[in-house]
Amino acid sequence: MTTPRIAVAPNKRIDDYVKSVQQSGGEPVVLDTSTARAADVVRDVDGLLLTGGGDVDPRLYGEERHPSVYGLVPDRDALELELVVRGLEHEVPMLCICRGMQVLNVALGGTLVQDILSAVPQALNHTDPDPPHKISHDVLLAPGARLTQLLRPDAGERPTYAVNSRHHQALKHVASSLVVTATAPDGVIEAVERPESAFCLAVQWHPENFWRTGEFRALFDALIEAASTRRRG
Ligand code: MN
Repeated sequence: MTTPRIAVAPNKRIDDYVKSVQQSGGEPVVLDTSTARAADVVRDVDGLLLTGGGDVDPRLYGEERHPSVYGLVPDRDALELELVVRGLEHEVPMLCICRGMQVLNVALGGTLVQDILSAVPQALNHTDPDPPHKISHDVLLAPGARLTQLLRPDAGERPTYAVNSRHHQALKHVASSLVVTATAPDGVIEAVERPESAFCLAVQWHPENFWRTGEFRALFDALIEAASTRRRG
């Protein structure tokens, strides 16, 4: 059987994403935002990994820009929003991380909290960057969610999981086709999935930073497994 090809959106620290895909048996194909076309990508790969990065332009979900918004890259927004739409249309398995989860939600009609500190009373510190794999807070997992089956298959009624955190934005209005699968103790949404897709999972934290120790390996294993199943099918 050939190795499933996973398109990986660009990121300044791409190494951990690449390692995570390779470790689970996938072949990472890192996209070049300036040349990639969504239609070609969706045709050429077996799975999608949307990565972290700067903020999605608030105009894309109908809001004025908050002063804290940074790192807008219009080409990247356009490419990734189209990758989500076309990817779901063609049932391409996708794992969406941090910015990727925000892209997924906006592509499906949702909106974002532009700045957690300004918008969420008594918010935890969600911007806790060093080292990248530093555990920052717990999340409460939704019973029955695919995410929960992968991370805590033997958990009881209120399964929790310890995660890292480096995001100043979060999901606000959740797109109607997504369900929330994890929340932080302050109510910030930390994961969603799309039940009608064979594999469409999104997390607000950074599982790729744990490839050395394996806490989130099940997420990448499941992406690669779904990608290889789709190719066979
Ligand atoms: Mn967080």
